[in-house]
Amino acid sequence: MFKTFPKGGIHPPENKLTADRPTVILPLPPQVTVPVSQHIGAPATPVVEKGAAVLAGQVIAEAKGFVSTNIHSPVSGKVSKIDTVVDTTGYKQTAVIIDVEGDEWVTTVDRSSALVKEITMTREEIIDRCRQCGLVGMGGATFPTHIKLTVPAGKSCDMVIINGVECEPYLTSDHRLMLEKGAEVLTGATIIMKALGVERAVVGIEANKPDAISHLTELAKEFKGITVQPLKVKYPQGGEKQLIKACTGREVPSGGLPIDVGVVVQNVGTAFAVYEAVQKNKPLVERVVTVTGKSVTNPGNFLVRIGTPVTALIEAAGGMPDDTGKIVNGGPMMGKALAITEVPVTKGTSGILLFPAAASRRAEVLPCIRCGKCSSACAMGLEPWLISVLSEKGMWDTAEKEKITDCMECGACAYTCPAKRPLLDYIRLGKSTVIRMARERITK
Ligand code: SF4
Ligand code: SF4
Repeated sequence: MFKTFPKGGIHPPENKLTADRPTVILPLPPQVTVPVSQHIGAPATPVVEKGAAVLAGQVIAEAKGFVSTNIHSPVSGKVSKIDTVVDTTGYKQTAVIIDVEGDEWVTTVDRSSALVKEITMTREEIIDRCRQCGLVGMGGATFPTHIKLTVPAGKSCDMVIINGVECEPYLTSDHRLMLEKGAEVLTGATIIMKALGVERAVVGIEANKPDAISHLTELAKEFKGITVQPLKVKYPQGGEKQLIKACTGREVPSGGLPIDVGVVVQNVGTAFAVYEAVQKNKPLVERVVTVTGKSVTNPGNFLVRIGTPVTALIEAAGGMPDDTGKIVNGGPMMGKALAITEVPVTKGTSGILLFPAAASRRAEVLPCIRCGKCSSACAMGLEPWLISVLSEKGMWDTAEKEKITDCMECGACAYTCPAKRPLLDYIRLGKSTVIRMARERITK
């Protein structure tokens, strides 16, 4: 039976142009730029110097504190410099820049493609391996995986949900991973179950990926405790709270986390990375990225090393179309526009979307007509028209009372607004201000 979440949601055109395009391995670029902050938490500290020879898989920046992750060299070569660069967020940060001289790996990594199903590590060893290998959430959140696998004191977990929803239009990297590395993804799910001490995992996949549903359902027969849950297509079902509601009926409370209802959610890309880290001792140095757009001549899914310039991906997809008006890092709903393309792929880069100019222009903003469509679309039960006005007027306290921090920034409200109000822009501003004020209250 196909399930979904009950509150809100929209159906934007799917535009999954690359769903049937098998993953292509992108050749190594001449140089990689590896930012030391590719995760939520403290930036890692570089531990190599200019001129140092490095191997693929070698730690080049060490995690600083618990909420942080190691960064590894994705190639073998020589450190050209450690410099400040602009990353995909548009902000400047420290990066290790490496001239590529080959693809020689540290000897501890098993680079064979043979499936290793037997899990010999203890819970503690699995979590430590995820920490050592620099794993983060691959769905875009980039939260360090070792923390998510550590159940806080006083909480308990009885279920893992593997997020194979990929509800963002255009993106297909998770879809391809499920088709091409399904057994590895399910072994990764089993490892995650062991780390959390749970007996049950559900893989949530939307109905627009019937081949992935049938493939993983068949494979899951060989994996104890894992089932596949087909889901109706509805955006933003990939949001953790919506996915939990759809798969289990459990409701994460306002301001709460999935662990409050006994669930840990991990993306399929993360499950694959956990498999590679635990069974192959392979750090997170590459990922699948969808490069797509209606005018792109060779859209596709590319396995690419971290630090590769986005320009190399665009070239591999046939080059920048003449009519390009906007380049988006991620999908059209939650992605952010790139100011420049000379930025490196990071652990959180799921897609590069090239929008034609005609589709990139902002429509004229009209007065709100109180139609209520934004409220009906909001899967978090918020009043987007209200919290955006409160933010626009700087009424932060009232915005906080109206639960602006519950906003998951899915953009469904702005998508549905007939007056083309920039709802999400104001909500993002208000949300970040309210979070900052709340932090200051705690530290005072
Ligand atoms: S962006 Fe925020 S307010 Fe708008 S629909 Fe999504 S969760 Fe609701
Ligand atoms: S959808 Fe737009 S016009 Fe309608 S109530 Fe919301 S903000 Fe106003």
